[in-house]
Amino acid sequence: MPTPDQEKVLVIGSGIGGLSTGIILAKLGFEVTVIEKNGQPGGMMRSYVRRGVHCNVGLHYLGALDQGQILRRCFNFLEITGQLPLIRMGVDGPVDQYLFTDDHPGIDHFDVPAGFEAYEAGLNAAFPTQRIQVAALMARLRRSADQLNRLSFLYSDRPTEYWFDQAEPLGAIFDQIGCSPGLRAVFGLPSVLIGVPPAVCPQFYHSMTLASYLLSAWRLKGPGATMADVCVQRLKSLGGSLRTGEAVTGIRTVDGRVRGLTLDSSETLDASIIVGTIHPKGMIELLEPEVLKASYRRRVMGLRDTPGMMAVHALVPAKQYPEIQPNRYLVQVDPQGGLLDLIFLQLRSSDDPGQNLLTLITSGHHELWQAWQQTRSGQRGPDYLKKKQDLARSLIGRTEKMMGPFQGLQILDIFTPLTIRDWVNSPEGSAYGVMRSNEQMLSAALLNRTSLRGLFLAGQSVLAPGILGTILGSFSTVKFIVGSERFHREVRI
Ligand SMILES: Cc1cc2nc3c(=O)[nH]c(=O)nc-3n(C[C@H](O)[C@H](O)[C@H](O)COP(=O)(O)OP(=O)(O)OC[C@H]3O[C@@H](n4cnc5c(N)ncnc54)[C@H](O)[C@@H]3O)c2cc1C
Repeated sequence: MPTPDQEKVLVIGSGIGGLSTGIILAKLGFEVTVIEKNGQPGGMMRSYVRRGVHCNVGLHYLGALDQGQILRRCFNFLEITGQLPLIRMGVDGPVDQYLFTDDHPGIDHFDVPAGFEAYEAGLNAAFPTQRIQVAALMARLRRSADQLNRLSFLYSDRPTEYWFDQAEPLGAIFDQIGCSPGLRAVFGLPSVLIGVPPAVCPQFYHSMTLASYLLSAWRLKGPGATMADVCVQRLKSLGGSLRTGEAVTGIRTVDGRVRGLTLDSSETLDASIIVGTIHPKGMIELLEPEVLKASYRRRVMGLRDTPGMMAVHALVPAKQYPEIQPNRYLVQVDPQGGLLDLIFLQLRSSDDPGQNLLTLITSGHHELWQAWQQTRSGQRGPDYLKKKQDLARSLIGRTEKMMGPFQGLQILDIFTPLTIRDWVNSPEGSAYGVMRSNEQMLSAALLNRTSLRGLFLAGQSVLAPGILGTILGSFSTVKFIVGSERFHREVRI
């Protein structure tokens, strides 16, 4: 139970950003309440159920979870590792398989194994004339991985220097060292997992993504809801609380300081610290225009976001279509190795023993859904449902061209950028929040702090997206809240 002198914190949003920030602050002795607009906590990490089958939204695999690795150390600090049922990937085969839909890159497939050495050997075998380029790319990757592992950006005295040091976009690096189209296509692909086109992806963000999965790749044995529930239990065990089904409609301020929140029920809550883990543009809309510096507001509202996604979940007969252990990426590139189109595929067991769950995710093409901008989930009408079905069928058709026909396939659910927009309030259904491209290195830097005293931001947009990036963002926000000295003393990851 909180004691009367504990400082009160209200956290807006119960995705991994909100729950991890809440847990860290509760561990440090703050009285934490997390407020969530949805009936269930977890945001994008939470799965949903269709015909008794759990379908994941934004949690398909995790990296760097082995002993001593970075995500494991974060989970250990949160004290949730033992509760998460994890399956290691890449043990008897690759972690990922890239299948190229045309012959531009001079390579038709590439298997991503676990481990840096195996990955380097795979690149050298696939691109024997590019050994010098492969060595140069791997040297950069290893250096970034080492800095990530040491958490230099959290614990060094000059954290921003560290980011800018590795801000060069992959496209420029490829040009400088003379990479072939095939090497560009293969090595650049992981930047798509954080929603940034490879050519403009700062080297560090690409390295963080690729390195984390090379270190070790894992998936949850259960659905994403399990991880959300584990985090909620941990928060509660520390005396924190969660209120679901209540949207924050305003942030109250007095004399340049936060005072509390207003909920959609008109109830008001008081606190001296507020952490918004929703999209930064959504945070700004919760404030009276005059309370933030105009320059900050302009900077945030002008940021470019990552695109939305469309996903299809379908059941296929398990006997005919057994599980595929690696993730598959069906990739289309241009003659220079630039990415044109990508389909992410998982085929895994489902809650229905006779059926396996096929998951297909691809770019959401926000422009296709303009006609339904003003509608809400579940109320968009028959034309929307038909368009969803047509696009899902076309996505399945493109997949079948590479994989052969899926007989007996039954579509369970289709989600579009509008679904994500309404589920988590992400602008235009952006999957990974603010885009971490090289053009936005400065404008998207240090979003954790605002000019309003007591107001902080966390969530995937403040540092980097994905479960790892978002949790690291939570730690960096807590550092701003408690100050560097206390953070160094009490938060050892
Ligand atoms: C299709 C897809 C696949 C992905 N796959 C992976 C993967 O395999 N591995 C990985 O690491 N990452 C993956 N990600 C990314 C990962 O899911 C996200 O980076 C992460 O979950 C973001 O967490 P968050 O807390 O920042 O945001 P969210 O999960 O969006 O949480 C924000 C929360 O705030 C709530 N909220 C919004 N407005 C209000 C309000 N006014 N009042 C109260 N509550 C509010 C929302 O309902 C939501 O619960 C994927 C994402 C997508 C879209």
